[in-house]
Amino acid sequence: SERTFAMIKPDGVKRGLTAEILRRIEHKGYRVVGLKLYQIPREVAENHYGEHSDKPFFGELVDFITSGPVVAIALEGENAIAGWRSMMGATNPANAAPGTIRGDFATSMGENVSHGSDSPESAERELALFFSDSELI
Ligand code: ATP
Ligand code: MG
Repeated sequence: SERTFAMIKPDGVKRGLTAEILRRIEHKGYRVVGLKLYQIPREVAENHYGEHSDKPFFGELVDFITSGPVVAIALEGENAIAGWRSMMGATNPANAAPGTIRGDFATSMGENVSHGSDSPESAERELALFFSDSELI
């Protein structure tokens, strides 16, 4: 089994989608091994999205992800990294299939409700960035 970092972005929290998204995670069968409401400091956001620092949308991305609290989630389960990405659907909600989180709940590329690590290396890095060891069960 593997661990991944999932997040409900500020738009999802503001819109009251937290319970719905946690419901999907639990019904899927992933174990929640870390969970907190968290106002991301700007430096943490810049680090988290560091791979995009050269992109034209980087400033907006950091502004958005720090615009309100997120729900940070550590998930564990078989194939959890790819499995959670698949539950979220495509990055651009216009291309996200119905039944996925972005397909069901988002319309804009910028405000796409949820995040998931894209590889084992990202998962390890992001879990360490958002959680201390003592916050993970
Ligand atoms: P996330 O990392 O947020 O889970 P992702 O892995 O599906 O999303 P990335 O390529 O890592 O997609 O992009 C990170 C975020 O940057 C996306 O969720 C999206 O909000 C934003 N983004 C990506 N590409 C663009 C773009 N071309 N224009 C505007 N925003 C973008
Ligand atoms: Mg990504």
